[in-house]
Amino acid sequence: MIKKTKIVATVGPSTTEKEILEKMIQEGVNVFRINFSHGCYEDHISAIKKIKEVDKIIGSHTAILADLQGPKIRIGEMPDDGLLLSAGDEFLITTSKNKRTKLSALITYKELPKDVKKGEHILLDDGKIVLKTLKTDNETSITTKVIAGGRLYSRKGVNLPDTVISTSSLTKKDKADLEVAIKNNVDWVGFSFVRNAREIIELRHLITQLGGNAKIIAKIEKPEAVENLEAIIEESDAIMVARGDLGVEVPLEKVPLLQKRIVTHSRQLAKPVIIATQMMESMMNNITPNRAEVNDVANAVMDGADAVMLSGETSIGKHPIEVIKIMTRIIKEVEEKFDPLYIHESIPKKNHERFITDSICFNVCRLAQRVEAKGIVTMTHSGYTAFKISSQRPKSDIFVFSSNKKLLETLSLVWGVSTYYYDKTVSTDHTIADIMHLLKNDGLVNSGDLIINTASIPLKENGKTNMLKLSYIN
Ligand code: PGA
Ligand code: MN
Repeated sequence: MIKKTKIVATVGPSTTEKEILEKMIQEGVNVFRINFSHGCYEDHISAIKKIKEVDKIIGSHTAILADLQGPKIRIGEMPDDGLLLSAGDEFLITTSKNKRTKLSALITYKELPKDVKKGEHILLDDGKIVLKTLKTDNETSITTKVIAGGRLYSRKGVNLPDTVISTSSLTKKDKADLEVAIKNNVDWVGFSFVRNAREIIELRHLITQLGGNAKIIAKIEKPEAVENLEAIIEESDAIMVARGDLGVEVPLEKVPLLQKRIVTHSRQLAKPVIIATQMMESMMNNITPNRAEVNDVANAVMDGADAVMLSGETSIGKHPIEVIKIMTRIIKEVEEKFDPLYIHESIPKKNHERFITDSICFNVCRLAQRVEAKGIVTMTHSGYTAFKISSQRPKSDIFVFSSNKKLLETLSLVWGVSTYYYDKTVSTDHTIADIMHLLKNDGLVNSGDLIINTASIPLKENGKTNMLKLSYIN
C-alpha cells in the first residue's frame, strides 16, 4: 500500500549527512523544507545538493520547499540567564541602545514604535509573556505593562495580533533569500505572515522576474490572513496551517476548527494543504511520541490534509529517521481503516475554461470508486489533472507520468500522487500499453487489476486531458 498523505521534513544540523536524508526519503519523506529563518546560504545550498544526489541514486522526486522568514520580529540579546518579568512591571521595548533601562529589551523591527498603538498587546516567546502597550513615543520606544510574566531570553519571537504592521510582508531579507532559492531551482516557496491575496501576487511577480517557476505556499499565521482566507487560497498554489505562530496571533482554542476550515476549503479548490508545527514535538528528545501527538497526526490525516510537517523534530531533533517511521505508521493505519477520508466529489462547472478536463477528472474518480480500480494513470505536463484528481481523494493510487522533471518533484507534495518520469511520445495506444508494463514490472499493479487511464488525444504536448480509458492489466 502506497502512503497517500505526504510528509514534509525540515532540514538542519540533524540532517547534514546524505545517508540520513536517504533513509528519511525511504521511510516516507516527500518534501524537504529549507528554513531560511535559520542557517546560512552555504548550508541551504549544500542540503539541496545532497537531496538531489539522493534522488538520483534512489530514483525519488523529492520536492524542495524554501520557507521565507517573513517579517518575524525578534527580541535582541538578553542576559544569559534571561530577564524575569512579573505581572504589573513596567517594561520598555526600544530600537535604541541608549534608551535602555533596567527592565527593557531591544527589538529588531525599527518601525514598531510607529505601528503599535496604546492598548494593543505584544506577545513574547510564543505568547508565554503578554504585554499591553501603555504608550509609544512614535520613534524608538514603547512603554508596556506586563500582564503575564515569565523569564525572557535572547532572540525570542514577538507577535502583534492587534497591530497593523506598515511594512510589506516580504522583507529585504526575504527578497535576497528568494533569489538564492530560485537560483537553486526550488519547487515551492513558503510565504510567512502573508496578510492578503495581493501580497501573493507580488511574490509571484518577483519569482517570475527572477526567471523561476516555483509555486507558492501561503502560510496562514496572521488574523488578517484568516479574514482574507478565501482570496488567499484562490491566489496561492498551496496552503500551510502554520499553527506555531497562528496559535499566538489568534486565541489558541480557535486553531483546531480553523485547521478543519482551511483544509476543507483548500481541498475544494484543489490546493494542497499542509498541517505544521509541534506534531511530534516530544520526539525532539524522546524515541516515541506522546499519545496526544499520535492523535494530532492521525486527526490531520482524517481532516484530509495533503501533508503533515515536521520542524525541530527533524532539523535539530535526536531522532530524524525514527520520527518519520512513526509518522508513516500512523498515516498508513488511518488511510487503511478510515473510509470517510475518501471520495469528495467536486462537480465540474459548465462555464469553466477547463470544463472538459474537469469533467474527465470528476468521472475518473466516480468510475474508480464504482469499479474499485487499483490505479488511476494520468499523463500531464502542467499538473492540472494531478491536482484535480487528487483533490477528490480517490482510494485508488494516482500514478502521474510526465517528461517534466520539475513538475514530478512539485507534485510530491500532493495527496495520493506517485510520480514517474516518462518521455516517449509514440502514440496514445503505445504509451498506455508501455506505462501499464512499467507499473507491472515495478510491482505496483498486478494481472487482473483494473486501471483507469487519462490522456489527451491526439497525443501532443500541452494538449488538455480529454480521454478516459478503463482496462485490465494483462
Ligand atoms: P515557522 O512556520 O516554523 O516558519 O514559524 C510554521 C508555524 O508558524 O507554525
Ligand atoms: Mn511561523
